[in-house]
Amino acid sequence: MIKERDSFSAQARGRGISTMVSPRGIIICVVAAIAVVLGGAGTALSEGSHPGEQSYQDARQLFYRVLRSPDLRQDPKNWEKVIEGYENVVVSYPESHRVPYSLYMAARCAARLYEDFHDPGFLNQAIMFFSQLSREFPEHHLADDALFYIGEYSKELGRPEEAATAFLTVMEQYPLADCYERAREQYQRLPKTLTKNKDNSEETLLASSALPLSSTFQQKLSVVARERFNHLTTIVIDPGHGGRDPGAMSSGGLAEKDVVLAIGRLLARKLTKLPNVKVVMTRALDRFLTLEGRTAVANNHGADLFVSIHLNAIADPSFCGAETYFLNLTNDPRSLAVAAKENATSDKKMSDLQMILMDLLADAKINESSLLAETVQNELYTLLRRRVPGVRNLGLKQAPFCVLFGAQMPSILVEAAFISNPMEERRLKSPDYLNLLADGIYRGITRYQKQTKVAHR
Ligand SMILES: [Zn+2]
Repeated sequence: MIKERDSFSAQARGRGISTMVSPRGIIICVVAAIAVVLGGAGTALSEGSHPGEQSYQDARQLFYRVLRSPDLRQDPKNWEKVIEGYENVVVSYPESHRVPYSLYMAARCAARLYEDFHDPGFLNQAIMFFSQLSREFPEHHLADDALFYIGEYSKELGRPEEAATAFLTVMEQYPLADCYERAREQYQRLPKTLTKNKDNSEETLLASSALPLSSTFQQKLSVVARERFNHLTTIVIDPGHGGRDPGAMSSGGLAEKDVVLAIGRLLARKLTKLPNVKVVMTRALDRFLTLEGRTAVANNHGADLFVSIHLNAIADPSFCGAETYFLNLTNDPRSLAVAAKENATSDKKMSDLQMILMDLLADAKINESSLLAETVQNELYTLLRRRVPGVRNLGLKQAPFCVLFGAQMPSILVEAAFISNPMEERRLKSPDYLNLLADGIYRGITRYQKQTKVAHR
């Protein structure tokens, strides 16, 4: 679950959902704590105030009745009835705020059945409910837990690829989740062939869609879920390079891919704390992603902003400072050289790219991207100037970066510093300095958001 999001998190943490290790331990703990919270099983709460509330309370009462009776809980049919009760809320009241909770409880009950009766069908059922929860309610505080359990259950069922996808999705889409660290541990314990050099970004970005779906009411639900969350701003952070592509290297052996990942994670941490902002990282680990795959992550998430983070490198070691790019045609040789370097993993020639770009520009959000780039560059420079006297403002630039091709939202590429400059290289090794860079980008993004909000009024 996501930290510092809402009161439910604290409430859920209080129940110990995410602190226990064994699934059985979790269930027992959750159950015991819920019973304490309610002050007795089956306490009927207010009726009819919300659609679906009564159905939810009915399912809940049945749950406690089964749980409390040693006889009842031994019969799988009783647990199935409990699951049906929660399913009824999901199917009959798709607009109810109880739907994500019902999916969660249905999944946990199915998982409990698996523990007692060892039928993999139950665990598949649990995965199905959790998949629905994570797909339809990605902003819900239980969404990351659902994904984490999908990972654990997939592993249990001998499907390490699905497990890897689920754990990686937790890391990439919920960088602040309190199950982030556990997801990372679990991910790293999986066979190396699954977790290293995952070149196909599609696998990751379609993470939850690769998981089994239930039935047709999915469609109805997704409309409701979209409406509920459409005020959210989704920001995709793209730390450049990764895996077999180190990006630029400093003379001291510092790799661009590692520095930009650190900056990206700091930026994600800052942005996630904003209300109504969802952050997605194209990569949360040192892994390779195609340039097209990065834009696809943004498009598939319906992102509102796309920010790619890089470091500059040039033969002249005296060059230093930050510059921010947006996608456009250019004749400036240095901008073209920067783009050529960042496009290195693409198989297309620079001249071809300019042509493709001309075709794409009709749909590109050039004005918005230019404003976003300018705002980020200004904020970044303002911060850097205070910390590093004499730092140069290389300004707002435009160039044909493959990673920005086809992005359907305002998108920029930040070259935060020159890794080829020995002084900047030294600074890039300091966590404080990385935080400063992340802060500059963060301020630019928030200022851009304020500006565009005012403009839309
Ligand atoms: Zn780069």
